[in-house]
Amino acid sequence: SDHSLTYPKCPEEMDWASYYPAYAVQNQDEQKQEQRTESESHDQHPVPPEDAPSKAISKPVEIADIGCGFGGLLFALAPKFPDTLILGMEIRTSVTSYVQDKVRALRAQNTSTSSFQNVSCIRANTMKFLPNFFSKAQLSKIFLCFPDPHFKQRKHKARIVSYTLNSEYAYVLKPGGMVYTITDVKDLHEWMVGHLEKHPSFERVKDEELESDACVEIMRQETEEGKKVERNKGEKFVAVFRRMKDPPWP
Ligand code: SAM
Repeated sequence: SDHSLTYPKCPEEMDWASYYPAYAVQNQDEQKQEQRTESESHDQHPVPPEDAPSKAISKPVEIADIGCGFGGLLFALAPKFPDTLILGMEIRTSVTSYVQDKVRALRAQNTSTSSFQNVSCIRANTMKFLPNFFSKAQLSKIFLCFPDPHFKQRKHKARIVSYTLNSEYAYVLKPGGMVYTITDVKDLHEWMVGHLEKHPSFERVKDEELESDACVEIMRQETEEGKKVERNKGEKFVAVFRRMKDPPWP
């Protein structure tokens, strides 16, 4: 159950700085406070801060991994896109904590491949309130890797691709932005392709174009599910869709 989940009222309300501390921006009151602290030894009456610390970061998240699981994709993308903020979204508490702990550990190690300051993970039910986290046309890439298949007909409404959810993905993606999908379940692949093709905001990216897209290889090789399917010699079905420009108003 996700009753305990809290959501920001809007993207600006999110405490992004606690997820990406290296990108936190100081607000003016914090700067003033720092100046005050510097001159405190001379000041008999230091003034208390007027405002809470800023929650803002210097650039927006641009890549979202929906249902990120244990974060294999996130940690492989981080060094590939060192200047882009990447966010994993995961509904399971323990799995989210695992990824958050790993982010902390990798940041502390500060390896030569990446500082991992650009990657983070949040607990969220992405089927609800996605536009509370991201503003219109904010994202350049959304990954839907090995989503739960929900095989039974009556469970199909729990699938993370549907006409309604595709409209949310279209809202948060910029024109030219991409939705990457991969699954080992043929029926789910056909479902995702069918629903995304039917949606007026998306067009399918041709296979030739995908050959030069590093994200496709990362999604195949670096996700935990991708590795599992590889071990079992299963098939992986990939489909990528581009967010088209909205047509002009009549
Ligand atoms: N993407 C990972 C991979 O490829 O290895 C994990 C795939 S796993 C089969 C599906 C993940 O989606 C699970 O970790 C599950 O908890 C998560 N999930 C399912 N529904 C979700 C939702 N509505 N919001 C966020 N995460 C969700």
